[in-house]
Amino acid sequence: MLRAGTAQSGRIQECPTLPNIAAERLHRLASTIVAATGSSPDEAKAVADHLVMSNLTGHDSHGVGMLPDYVKNCRAGLLVPNQTLKVLRDVGAVLLVDGGRGFGQTMARDAMRLGAERAKKLGCAVVGLRNASHVGRIGFWAEQCAAEGLVSLHFVNVADHDPLQAPFGCSDARLGTNPFCVAVPGADGKPMLLLDMATSAIAFGKARVARNKGVPVPDGVLIDAEGRPTTDPTTYVDTRKGALLSFGLHKGSGLAIFCEVLGAALIGGQTIAPHHERLDGIVNSMLSLLVDPAVFGDLESMRAEVQAVIDWVKASPPAPGFEAVLMPGDPENLARAKRAAEGVPIDPKSLSDILAAGASLELDPAELRRIVED
Ligand code: NAD
Repeated sequence: MLRAGTAQSGRIQECPTLPNIAAERLHRLASTIVAATGSSPDEAKAVADHLVMSNLTGHDSHGVGMLPDYVKNCRAGLLVPNQTLKVLRDVGAVLLVDGGRGFGQTMARDAMRLGAERAKKLGCAVVGLRNASHVGRIGFWAEQCAAEGLVSLHFVNVADHDPLQAPFGCSDARLGTNPFCVAVPGADGKPMLLLDMATSAIAFGKARVARNKGVPVPDGVLIDAEGRPTTDPTTYVDTRKGALLSFGLHKGSGLAIFCEVLGAALIGGQTIAPHHERLDGIVNSMLSLLVDPAVFGDLESMRAEVQAVIDWVKASPPAPGFEAVLMPGDPENLARAKRAAEGVPIDPKSLSDILAAGASLELDPAELRRIVED
């Protein structure tokens, strides 16, 4: 196992650490920068809510570290503030909506609101969201559905930039990191189980965070431009040469392909296929299936059965090297409790990239730094 800062290439430079930052401060930083892109106060808040919640759940890949990309894309006209969702089709349980390259945080929120309304009326809804900018951490949308008492499944593709994931057997990148997510709600409106994952072995943002912190990525997740295994994320993150491997060999790779097919091709979204011009922005398309579990019968016995499955699996003695058996969603819940109490760790490079993004919008970097450091 490589130590931080000692990857084989010797090029990874380990960086010093900063004190943790309280979520409220990160929220102020994020909403100030998003507002400076021209977003309304509602949109700036929605984006900041989402990014900071990603940090709190432990997914720094999808937290405030996304702001430099968002600012770059806004400045290039590839992310458009203050978009309103356009309903393209409305047939029975099916809704097809277009996000007009708007902030994914508002486009997906509004798409899930429409879907939840429909699912509560009909028992289920199938929502195709095309052409949103980055919809971020997909678990956030499953949590929104769970808060309405709904089971949800989400198949997502990523387009408009070069591919990042090498499917099984490929020596170069052919797909985005295409996330998949599924959740089942409990009686309290929180997910009892929430599986939310990139179909690449790790999300691209995790390679970015590793690169910024100066630590290697785990073995077996990354190949270089020649298709050889590497743990050094520097070249991949800086030049996008190389690829993350699909998780789970041929099975994860198959799911990644279905995220492309269901998340985009089925709903008329932009796929990663090369006949689509890639402008180096981020376009997510997402197929969401929302189901009211009450349509299948007794909610209480459904929840009791889910709990029995959880208890049964968790009762297994942890395998060597494991402290405990966790369920999908447990790591995020644990991170949320810890980071709400202790603040969010941000590495200096990520913070200075965020401040530079703010400066490119004429915000004073010293003022921005005061938001998080005073
Ligand atoms: P991850 O590998 O950290 O976790 C994936 C899933 O595994 C989670 O549901 C987690 O609860 C579960 N898990 C983790 N450790 C576990 C353990 N020890 N036992 C049991 N379950 C465990 O996540 P990831 O694949 O790196 O994805 C990170 C985030 O990136 C996700 O929120 C995803 O939605 C997001 N993402 C978004 C996009 C986009 O374009 N919008 C693209 C890719 C990924």
